[in-house]
Formats: sequence, C-alpha cells, structure tokens
Amino acid sequence: MAEGDTILRLARRFDATLVGETVSATAPSPRGKAANVDRLDGHRLERAEARGKHLLLEFGELSLHSHLGMSGGWHFYRPGAGWRRPRSSAWAVLSGGEWEAVQFGGPTLRVTTTGRLRRDPQIARLGPDILADDFDPEAVIATMRADPTRGLGEALLDQHLVAGIGNIFKSEACFAARIDPWRATGDLSDEELREALLAARAQMTAAVESGGRHRFQIYKRRQSVCPSCRGPVSSRGQGDANRTTYWCPRCQS
Ligand SMILES: [Zn+2]
Repeated sequence: MAEGDTILRLARRFDATLVGETVSATAPSPRGKAANVDRLDGHRLERAEARGKHLLLEFGELSLHSHLGMSGGWHFYRPGAGWRRPRSSAWAVLSGGEWEAVQFGGPTLRVTTTGRLRRDPQIARLGPDILADDFDPEAVIATMRADPTRGLGEALLDQHLVAGIGNIFKSEACFAARIDPWRATGDLSDEELREALLAARAQMTAAVESGGRHRFQIYKRRQSVCPSCRGPVSSRGQGDANRTTYWCPRCQS
C-alpha cells in the first residue's frame, strides 16, 4: 500500500535515476496506451515530486500523474535486466541513461499538460503534505475544526485536510501519540491534534529513511498484543470508506 512515505521514496529514486534524462516512453499494455504514455517519448524528465500519495513527473509542458492505491507499483531496472512481472502487463516504461522505470497497476496513470494537472481538483485541493519540509500542523488543525464530529482516525485519512497519510500510518500515529482514534476531533485539544500529526510525520519520516523496512507497532496486530502494555489490540472499520483502524484500548483512552 503506497502512502506518502512510499511516494516520497519513489520521487527520490527518480531523482537518482531518471531526472535530467531524455526518456524513451512506451506503453506495452492497453491501459498504458489509454493513458497516452507514449506522448512522453523523447521528452526530458525535469522533476519528480511527491504530493501526498500522488507522484507527479514533470516533463516540461507535459506531466505524468501516478497514484498507486493498494495495488500499483514502480520498479526500477538496469537495461536488459530481468523483470519481476511480464513486460506485456506494464502500463508505462520510461527508459533513459542507465535506468528503466516500469509502472504496473493502480487507480491512476495519465499523461496530461503540466498546467492542467496543477489545476486538477485532485491535486489542487490536497491539504498540506505531511512530509513537506515546511509542514505546519497549525494549518491542518484549523481546517480540522470545521468538522468536529469526525473521529481522529477518519480525519487523518482525509487528503483534503492533510495529504499523504494512509491506512497504516493513521493507526501508527494515533498509537504513537496515545490517542484513541475514535475520539471526535472536536473533543481533542490543539495539543492532542498537534501530537497526532507530528507522530504521523515522525513515523513516516522514519519509514522513508529506513527504505521501506520500517516496523509497524500497531497496524495488523489484531492477532497479537500491544507492544507497550501486552494487552489485546482492537480493530474495526472506520469512516465512510470503512478502512480498518487498529488501536490499543488500554494505551489509547
Ligand atoms: Zn497497550
């Protein structure tokens, strides 16, 4: 599952491999052809940017917009190396210099003009990026106050409030801050909301630094015990999308 930490690592991987390169772009699968991936052929990748869970690759006037959701991925290969999945199933292949970046699956892959992408409501209405250098929790707290009835776990997932937190780090942040994810945001103090947001940022930053080998404390611990108090971990679907929240009722009350 690709949350903001995965997307930021991907953007850095592009920085290290294909940014600055003129790419050859192909779309082996019909889905990639429908996304107009081949329009990028012969263009230079100028910038790779993570905006929450969205990856934006800027090729001058054209941009590629990728959202991986639960199932999508980008793989990086040396030219001629064996691939982990069949070539025919790739949505996009970007080759340049010493690397190939290959994209498979996910809810969103499209090529559009850079100007249109920046105005796209999906991108333009994103809240502050939890992993941005200048992330300011106060701005998020102020907008959270507009809907005081929602549970904290649900609010942390709302990409219009704060961009980048997904289902794993929603649970991890509430656990690290020792706050019950079912408490309504209106019942939480500014200090508690700040702690939850900064916990999400700290956990996700650690995941970026560890290269994806981050160990989760509470997520999917249902069959297990709380690492802090050894009590049972609870789990239940939360919010309109019914995404499962994991929490320790003893430590997070
Ligand atoms: Zn506990």
